[in-house]
Amino acid sequence: MKVKILGSAGSYQSPSRQCSSYLVIIDGISFLLDAGNGSFGNLLKVHDPFDIGAVFLSHRHHDHLADIISLYHYLKFVPNGEVRRDKIPLFASRITHDFLSNFAAGSIFDIFERRVVAAGELNTIEGVEVGFGGVNHVDGSLSISLKAQSGETLFYSGDSAYSSDLAASIPGGSTLITESTYLIRKEGSGKAIHMDAMEVAQLCNDAKVSGVIVTHVAHPNDPDVVGDLVRQSYTGYVEVARDLDIFQIDSDKIVRLTSISGEGI
Ligand SMILES: [Zn+2]
Ligand SMILES: [Zn+2]
Repeated sequence: MKVKILGSAGSYQSPSRQCSSYLVIIDGISFLLDAGNGSFGNLLKVHDPFDIGAVFLSHRHHDHLADIISLYHYLKFVPNGEVRRDKIPLFASRITHDFLSNFAAGSIFDIFERRVVAAGELNTIEGVEVGFGGVNHVDGSLSISLKAQSGETLFYSGDSAYSSDLAASIPGGSTLITESTYLIRKEGSGKAIHMDAMEVAQLCNDAKVSGVIVTHVAHPNDPDVVGDLVRQSYTGYVEVARDLDIFQIDSDKIVRLTSISGEGI
């Protein structure tokens, strides 16, 4: 299982990072998790957009779905020497799909197949088990888990606050991709819908994950400082996502294969 980071910024772009998007390749099938604003340019750098087997949108915020429009335009209007015969299944909650239909004026469903899913659902795509769970964010937000036939499981929380329910929903031994929007979240700033570094560490310990890729760090917070804070309280593999990083996920470790962004934050 490989993960290509197409967007690692939190909530809005930074000078050198685009918004949330992750390409996961399992047994030759490519799954796109989220398509935040700016991420499509990174997709073009590392992968053929025609080779996407399924799309998953965790929730309706623009930093997770805006570039689905760019992907749609590319697939519809760039010939690329091939014509897709099958629609690409696009999995999201009903609330996210309703938002997307308005946002895209309904036009994208000649390329994408509308697949409405809810927390607790399981699907199988080309032998990969795909699960959806509830998280603590805006209405209709879902976590997405991908389990390869070889047993490795990748769990993507999307945006979420910490909760013991979230931890309980993560299969032990998974590799986690999760957000740390904050270094340290301020108390009293309203209902929590995001995590900070200590909450990420708590989530990793509670869920007994084998490792974590920390992402969605909001500029100007420094992703490396967030990673160091997580490592203070969690002893598994901790990697910090930067745009265009490629990770190999094995059942017991995360290996950074390449980092070509060469940037600070
Ligand atoms: Zn977000
Ligand atoms: Zn969000």
